[in-house]
Amino acid sequence: MRLQTTLARTVTVSGVGLHSGHLVRATLRPAPAGRGIVFVRTDVGAVLPALAEEAGRLDYATSLGERGREVGTVEHLLSAAAGLGLDNLTVEIDGPELPILDGSSAPWVAEIHSAGLTTLASAARPFAVPKTLSVHGSDGKWIEIRPAKELRISYSIDFPHPAVGRQSISLVLTPETYAAHLAPARTFGFLAEYEYMKSKGLARGASEDNCIVVGESAVLNGGLRFPDEFVRHKVLDLVGDLALVGRPVVGHVVAHRAGHALHTALAKEIRQALAGEHLRRVEPAPESVALAGR
Ligand SMILES: [Zn+2]
Repeated sequence: MRLQTTLARTVTVSGVGLHSGHLVRATLRPAPAGRGIVFVRTDVGAVLPALAEEAGRLDYATSLGERGREVGTVEHLLSAAAGLGLDNLTVEIDGPELPILDGSSAPWVAEIHSAGLTTLASAARPFAVPKTLSVHGSDGKWIEIRPAKELRISYSIDFPHPAVGRQSISLVLTPETYAAHLAPARTFGFLAEYEYMKSKGLARGASEDNCIVVGESAVLNGGLRFPDEFVRHKVLDLVGDLALVGRPVVGHVVAHRAGHALHTALAKEIRQALAGEHLRRVEPAPESVALAGR
């Protein structure tokens, strides 16, 4: 058993949002046990718990809430928090989207490490999935979680692009494996999609400093941090989207060519299974009622 955690002190991070291009300030504050992670838009007065049913836009990033009151690109901060075992946190933000920083979650990990974690007087409540849950998308994309003793993630991607191609990785998540093998992996964007994305109001804050820029045949902005940085970033995203379960998850997640929409759909499935477990615990099973009557 481990105890729930929160930040030992408040930290503030400023930067540009990847899609909105807005300069925003995020303040990460300690929160009490059982609160989970909650985003507060201080400019519009919106309060958004980091839970799958709050998910909004899921194209290219994960947003919570409705347009006008949304908090965009929450996945990298959520990933750092879940990856490091930070359970309770209030995130105040004065604009529509979290700062993208360097496109990875390493700067968030550094902030959380510098603030430190403190334990709270309540046990963490990891949820071990009792059976396999699957979500299938279009075009052969899928994700599932199988019962297991620890959180393992196996992820494969297959982009028809010479700089990316097929990549796969499988690892057990611990704060140490997260910080070393996933956190530094940066988000990536294809130059061919850039104009289209901008026309949709996306990628307005994108630059060579906050994403891997993939040109027609090669990466255009320097070397990669890992030979398989692309699939590692997909796992980083998945860890963040799975945080929308609201509790630590235990199981073996297997994903093939998934993305934010499928990750979040799986988080919803897990939350339904979690709600079912609660019902079973509250209502006595029919056998025990029969036994009690004998
Ligand atoms: Zn990402």
